[in-house]
Amino acid sequence: MTDATSTRPGINWLNLVFLLGTFLAALVSTPWYLIKYGLGWPEAVTFLVIWLFVGLSVTAGYHRLFSHKTYQAAWPVRLFLLIFGAGALENSVLNWAADHRVHHSHVDEERDPYNIQKGFWWAHMGWIFFENETPNPSVVRDLTEDPLVVWQDKYYALIGIGVAFGIPLIVGLLTGHVLGCLIIGSLLRVVVSHHGTFFINSLCHMVGRQPYSTEHSARDSPIMAVLAFGEGYHNYHHSFPFDYRNGVKVWQFDPAKWLIWTLSRVGLARDLRRAPDAAVLKAKIEVQFERAKERLQEVVHDFREHHEAQLHEAYTRLQTTLHELLSLQRRGKARPVPAGQEHLPLETRIGLTYHALEEALREWKQTLRQMNRLPMAATA
Ligand SMILES: [Zn+2]
Ligand SMILES: [Zn+2]
Repeated sequence: MTDATSTRPGINWLNLVFLLGTFLAALVSTPWYLIKYGLGWPEAVTFLVIWLFVGLSVTAGYHRLFSHKTYQAAWPVRLFLLIFGAGALENSVLNWAADHRVHHSHVDEERDPYNIQKGFWWAHMGWIFFENETPNPSVVRDLTEDPLVVWQDKYYALIGIGVAFGIPLIVGLLTGHVLGCLIIGSLLRVVVSHHGTFFINSLCHMVGRQPYSTEHSARDSPIMAVLAFGEGYHNYHHSFPFDYRNGVKVWQFDPAKWLIWTLSRVGLARDLRRAPDAAVLKAKIEVQFERAKERLQEVVHDFREHHEAQLHEAYTRLQTTLHELLSLQRRGKARPVPAGQEHLPLETRIGLTYHALEEALREWKQTLRQMNRLPMAATA
């Protein structure tokens, strides 16, 4: 036996048979059922309601509440998220969060459980088919202080099967649509929920934009945000994982963000954490600056020097203003106070800095636009 085969992790047959089995069974039985019986309301409603509850429980619960602690939730909310999160059949929250925390701390490295550098299929579901190294329990020690989390970990299989198969079975028995509820409401729903999560680990580390950081492989994908309850803005998420929002812009589709915000309004959630706007903007400018510098290397040489100086000047002005605004927001006072403004109240100084920031941003955007119009040097 060679060293390579001796270190290869063993296959987790239960996971492999379950994941491939449910996928193939749903693939065959769903069209068969729809052609033979058509879509009845009991199976359609069961699918939609459980898919919605489970999806939001994974995103707002497993992910943003338990894995990243982006907010605090009252116990009835935690209980709901733990019960329907188990229905995703993606492991107990303790195991899920442990893997996910290692994913964030070692993204794109060997220790990342769903490391995209090992290819699409590995990150998507291949990693689940193997007996991988279990993360150190200390990674999720804080979570074990919650008795509800410990309870869910102990009875995970029972709760998960109850939500995924028990509820559809009951609805089926009550409405006379047992087969439909088991095929559409159980089987198909489990597969759709699975791949909604899996695509975040695969596609969202491969396809999409990187507006906030190029230091990691995570990407923003509005399409995935729709399919995965707002989780598609993955470049933002890896850049600011402590933020309860993934779609940081008001118009970005992020139902988990809307749910958490609504819960906070009715007193069921609190301590919602957000990255300061200035910090988000700073990250964006940093990426734009690096890209503009790279582009300058490709433009006709005669234009380069002048525009390089212009780019650096606009960048420095913007960074200084942003830094000043962050200081004002964090410490409640500017340090040092610009000459002639010592007597001004804090609100006025923040207002003035905002105005200066708007000016600097306008200049920055204009500089980038000019840069994009420069003639490119001919390649050999
Ligand atoms: Zn990721
Ligand atoms: Zn995360």
